[in-house]
Amino acid sequence: MPRTGEICTLSGLYQGDCGHSHRFDRGDTFTPCSYCARAVTWIRVGA
Ligand SMILES: [Zn+2]
Repeated sequence: MPRTGEICTLSGLYQGDCGHSHRFDRGDTFTPCSYCARAVTWIRVGA
């Protein structure tokens, strides 16, 4: 599972281990959760 700071290789909707969701596109850097302002692990949950 991708963590904050890694590069997104598959566009889609991702959910952080904090429970918040964010969209990332291929080539984006996974950001910290913008709600929690902390590094999280992102799980892809949709296209
Ligand atoms: Zn969060």
